[in-house]
Amino acid sequence: MSVLAVAQDVTEVTDLREKVRVLESLVDRSDLPKPHTNNAMSVEAAAEYYRAIVESSDDAIISKTPEGLVTSWNPAAQTIFGYSCDEMLGKSLLVLLPPEKSDEERFILERIQAGETVEHFETTRIHKDGHRVDVSVTTSPIRDRRGHVIGASKIARDITAQKMAERQLKLTASVFTSTIEGILITDRKGTIVDINDAFSRITGYCKEEVVGQDARMFRSSNQGPEVFRFIKMALRELGEWRGEVWSRRKDGKSYSVILTISSVRDSYGNVQNYVALFSDITPLKLQQEKLEHSAQFDSLTDLPNRLLLSDRLHQAMAMCQRQNQSLAVLYLDLDGFKYINDNYGHDVGDALLISVSNRMRLALRDVDTLARIGGDEFVAVLANIDSTHDCIQLVERVLGACAEPVHIQGRELKVTASIGVTIYPQDDAEADQLMRHADQAMFEAKQNGKNRIYLFDSALDAEVKTRSLQQERIALALLRQEFVLHYQPKVNMRTGAVVGAEALIRWDHPERGLLAPGVFLPAIEEHPLSETVGSWVIDMALKQMVEWKLLGLSLPVSVNISARQFQQQNFVNHLSEALANYPEIDAKSLELEILETSALEDIGSATKIMQDCHRLGVLFAIDDFGTGYSSLTYLRRLPVETLKIDQSFVRDMLDDSDDLAIVKGVIGLASAFHKHVIAEGVESVANGKKLIELGCYLAQGYAIARPMSGSRIPEWSATWEPPAQWTQAL
Ligand code: C2E
Ligand code: MG
Ligand code: MG
Repeated sequence: MSVLAVAQDVTEVTDLREKVRVLESLVDRSDLPKPHTNNAMSVEAAAEYYRAIVESSDDAIISKTPEGLVTSWNPAAQTIFGYSCDEMLGKSLLVLLPPEKSDEERFILERIQAGETVEHFETTRIHKDGHRVDVSVTTSPIRDRRGHVIGASKIARDITAQKMAERQLKLTASVFTSTIEGILITDRKGTIVDINDAFSRITGYCKEEVVGQDARMFRSSNQGPEVFRFIKMALRELGEWRGEVWSRRKDGKSYSVILTISSVRDSYGNVQNYVALFSDITPLKLQQEKLEHSAQFDSLTDLPNRLLLSDRLHQAMAMCQRQNQSLAVLYLDLDGFKYINDNYGHDVGDALLISVSNRMRLALRDVDTLARIGGDEFVAVLANIDSTHDCIQLVERVLGACAEPVHIQGRELKVTASIGVTIYPQDDAEADQLMRHADQAMFEAKQNGKNRIYLFDSALDAEVKTRSLQQERIALALLRQEFVLHYQPKVNMRTGAVVGAEALIRWDHPERGLLAPGVFLPAIEEHPLSETVGSWVIDMALKQMVEWKLLGLSLPVSVNISARQFQQQNFVNHLSEALANYPEIDAKSLELEILETSALEDIGSATKIMQDCHRLGVLFAIDDFGTGYSSLTYLRRLPVETLKIDQSFVRDMLDDSDDLAIVKGVIGLASAFHKHVIAEGVESVANGKKLIELGCYLAQGYAIARPMSGSRIPEWSATWEPPAQWTQAL
């Protein structure tokens, strides 16, 4: 082989070891191998040629003495290690060794001295500027013709970049294998080409089972095909997609993943692969679901809590509006639960709540919502209510379910429920208000004896609301002195004598004019204000009597007393104080008109009050007589002087034989029990005449006079004359 050929071979040989071997055969400059010298090229030329090769090599080619002192140092050695030839000639290579490899050079030299080649090995050296260089090194002994080792040749190739790439590859590989995320790689058609260990761990599929398969094999039916269409579109347009999807494991179970799919393109931009990276978020999802559940459900009974209830109620109301239906809101409070909690402990109480709530749930329908909103308080929303009747039937089922005995820890326990119900949209209120109304009704159910249902009355509620506004206004009217008394004369129709006047209250309303008592008194019927108003009336009537008296008119006055006023504590004391304020008035000229009903409500106490009033001198009349249900026994016992026939009978007595019979009856009764009788509502002369014929001479009514202000009474009394038909009757 010619030197040229050898030299050419050296440049072409890429395997390092081979290169070394070839170079070895050339390295002995003093004595190039014989066969070569026979060739056309001279030894000098060959040496020059060899030098050129060494100089132009990318690998560091270094020679050294057996002791390790550098004898040659090519430019590549300078490039790789940073030291120039001048700096290194005659020096040891130890300077290149990193501390942890300080023994390496000694070891190499020992081997060289023993005539061995230190085979191609990879190590690290330190560059002059301090950075590390990965090198692949082969050191071989150089021998003289006699075979003695006279030095060593060293070829070092910089493999830093290669090492780095290897490390990078290793890192990438370890990411692929050791990451906890599942990785799936497909070709551009979606055929699986590789998966990592995590993929197998998560899905249960091993590599052999999936490689070559279509990636769509993992699709879960938990989501519609539109999700995949969307992913495809995103990959086409953006090159990647990230989101949450459901997937399917080998065992068929669905699980939730957070998935990133990226497309890998070649240098021309064509998609070569898709890489899907995903993590199993099922535990997270479950945790999230658990959290969501506990935010919306009661932990003891697992019923919806107040939050979810409010949500459901709003939805149900919206549905009602859309479909023109009704719903019912039930507010349910257990009766006797506190007793169980206090006597048997909270564990038993809790067990009872669970058991009762399960029963209620069973009593309701699937469309209904039952929620626990407090200790022993529940609210149910019943959807699709066809009629109040159906609703009540359903609620009765719930009531029955609550009342069933419960067996806990060997004991038989029993509670009942009080249930308030309101029906929407009949009760046209907001969701919160519906609950309040049902609660209000539940309170009524408790008040009325528990273990019962009470239906909220929205009309009544509206009335109560306006009533309380009216009460406020009436209190103000008292302060502003807007009330006045009018008087309606009472006469003896036969004689024409004015026997008295009935005081009738009016409200001189600044905006609405003169208001009759029927407009405002009902609003305070059950209110303490009626007592205040009542006292005011008595006081004003007495005052009026004094004024008339001063004008020479002694006219008895009847005052209407409400039931509440009459039963008020200290009524007698108040009355006596009022009378004491007007000593000039004889108590006998004051008559109190009480309704039949208020006298009979508690006949015992009514009798007592009347007797006490009698002691003061005051007289009594029963107003609107005939409208109540007085028994004859009661009537006999009642200490009243006068019965006042209700105007409804008087008005129609000429046309209605029943009314006439009643009027006759009342007159007969009065006579039998030695009481006076007076007819009210005498609107016509004919009526008056008939009354006279029947034996009732006293009367008041429009036929005689309308109620008028107190100041007009004296003149009226002085001038009034009865119709001749009356005076001439009988
Ligand atoms: P009442 O005590 O039965 O009074 C008679 C009512 O009949 C009065 O109405 C009077 O104006 C009316 N009236 C009198 N004659 C006729 C008639 O010929 N035809 C007709 N249609 N009506 C006649 P008013 O003043 O509107 O009083 C209504 C009721 O209000 C009274 O019925 C009484 O129960 C109550 N009331 C009036 N003033 C007071 C008061 O100061 N205190 C209390 N607690 N109640 C009063
Ligand atoms: Mg009256
Ligand atoms: Mg009356």
